[in-house]
Amino acid sequence: MTRFISIGEAMVEMAPLAVPGQFQMSFAGDTLNTAWYARALKPRWDVDYVTAVGTDRISDQMLQFLDDARIGRAHVQRLDDRAMGLYLISLVDGERQFSYWRGQSAARMLAADVDVLAAALAEGDIIYFSGITLAIQEGRGRAKLLDAVQRAQSAKGLVVFDSNLRPSLWESDDHMRAWVTKAASLADIMLPSHDDEAVHFGDKSPEATRDRYAALGAGIVVVKNGPGAIHYQSGDDKGIVQPAIVSDVVDTTAAGDSFNAGFLTAFVEGAPIEDAIVQASNVARHVIKGRGALVSL
Ligand code: ADP
Repeated sequence: MTRFISIGEAMVEMAPLAVPGQFQMSFAGDTLNTAWYARALKPRWDVDYVTAVGTDRISDQMLQFLDDARIGRAHVQRLDDRAMGLYLISLVDGERQFSYWRGQSAARMLAADVDVLAAALAEGDIIYFSGITLAIQEGRGRAKLLDAVQRAQSAKGLVVFDSNLRPSLWESDDHMRAWVTKAASLADIMLPSHDDEAVHFGDKSPEATRDRYAALGAGIVVVKNGPGAIHYQSGDDKGIVQPAIVSDVVDTTAAGDSFNAGFLTAFVEGAPIEDAIVQASNVARHVIKGRGALVSL
């Protein structure tokens, strides 16, 4: 049985209801979304989420959410002195604005004990994390996270990294570029999105993004690009897949996260890379036609 382990931060989401001042609470986060879609696509896989939460009632509800979704949470750490991060969505002239309270979140400590994290990852066939997972780690947490990932890789894990660049989570753009490059050098599979990489690494084209990450040693690089062509490299083989464009987009939240799950669940099972990219793009196309991050497939 394939064991997929996703590492990161799940947050409490408060989304506005029609009545002013009332909100709907749910749970969301890039790596959580990918775990959720991997679970939906592969009922036979073991899908595990590795994070840290508090010991409060909301954290209990998060664990219940994982149970209901049939996502494993045996290695979720519980910390007495921390709670989950939270964001609140406001609608300003129809546009969504996000306010975050995550500076002290429990997930910032998920790598504080490197041996605990390494034990959580030990049995993973696929070890998945993102630039957000890396950005938020406190103290020496980033180095410890990469250490634990590397130990899992030495055992048997295929390391998959989505750079998911969020400059506001980093102390500087230089730190972001340096750490993302370090994580990418470990990765077996890189799943970046070109638009972010163009802004922060100066890539002139999706090919430039692909070549930069391939040069760091990832055997597989798949460059997402909104409605644009997806560029990939697999060993020495390079190619392009053009996704069918969606014109009636409802909400692009989790496009990239669901794409990653669509790609990995096909590719790891042996699908040729172009077929896996087509599946990934089909999943993402479905997701952006629905509202919210988690859209039933
Ligand atoms: P992210 O959500 O990480 O920013 P992208 O915006 O690049 O990622 O989108 C991820 C994937 O979602 C794309 O590679 C593509 O497959 C799909 N996608 C996004 N927008 C569209 C669109 N308008 N039409 C078709 N597919 C899309």
